[in-house]
Amino acid sequence: SMASPALLMRVVASAYSVAERAARIVRNVMDGGDLGIVEKTGANDLQTKADRLVQMSICASLARKFPKVTIIGEEELTTDEVSEELIEDGHCEEILKKTCPAQYTGIKEEELVIWVDPLDGTKEYTEGLLDHVTVLIGIAYGGKAIAGVINQPYYNYEAGADAVLGRTIWGVLGIGAFGFQLTEAPAGKHIIVTTRSHGSTLVNDCISALNPDSVIRVGGAGNKIIQLIEGKASAYVFASPGCKKWDTCAPEAILHAVGGKITDIHGNSFQYNKEVKHMNSAGVLASLRNYEYYASRIPNNVKQSLVP
Ligand code: AMP
Ligand code: MG
Ligand code: MG
Repeated sequence: SMASPALLMRVVASAYSVAERAARIVRNVMDGGDLGIVEKTGANDLQTKADRLVQMSICASLARKFPKVTIIGEEELTTDEVSEELIEDGHCEEILKKTCPAQYTGIKEEELVIWVDPLDGTKEYTEGLLDHVTVLIGIAYGGKAIAGVINQPYYNYEAGADAVLGRTIWGVLGIGAFGFQLTEAPAGKHIIVTTRSHGSTLVNDCISALNPDSVIRVGGAGNKIIQLIEGKASAYVFASPGCKKWDTCAPEAILHAVGGKITDIHGNSFQYNKEVKHMNSAGVLASLRNYEYYASRIPNNVKQSLVP
């Protein structure tokens, strides 16, 4: 008989189904009409009922199946009693059929760290910019992002009633990434994607120094990585603190799985061990194919303003 699938593949296969359940919760809360908005550090740092319910669902579902894995979620929640109706027990069979890369077959539960952003792009969710929203489940081993799931609950929401609403993108280093059509950005054009709700003079000065052909301002770290892998933008540039490890872990794994690169604005790679500082203090720089072009043009004064 076949050997049981490696732990990593079982975690990714479960995270896929858990993320689909999360997306249904995100849509149900919006349909219910009461978002239950709470300001965290201020008006540009919000939490809704969807952020809370989804984090409970993801963390409790994964912890039940993989009790020794470290799971770190964005939201500080007061209760640890999770209603049974939030628990997802399913998994994606297609993922279990893939061969685990040899370097990951021996991973034990206690060696994995899962970074959860239950709802990335909350500000945009509250403003009705629904396709900016993603659910992010990133999986780290040895301090590196090695696998991730990005669910986009409102993918296709403007495409009409015949279109299938929502999608799930997943990836593992050494296997690749699936659930979307990998597309290169237009050759010779410099299209930069950046924040729409967390801008600053430094963010804008950094982008100007890169002399872009155009700038796309959208919410969400997950959404911006999707812009890179689908060829809508050539670089994600965010010269500011504010983005956290749960924002970058799943996107990093998927971008790296298809040959892209993401670092802070200095070119330092992100670390995802459980003890690491949550804040990506020195910003974000990412590209699918042309990383060095952008990295070599980040101005020194911008770098000096952002201490890792
Ligand atoms: P954005 O590109 O503005 O959507 O930011 C990407 C991710 O980083 C989102 O999860 C934001 O909530 C988070 N983020 C970025 N800047 C800030 C900030 N100044 N305060 C709080 N969260 C931020
Ligand atoms: Mg986020
Ligand atoms: Mg969030």
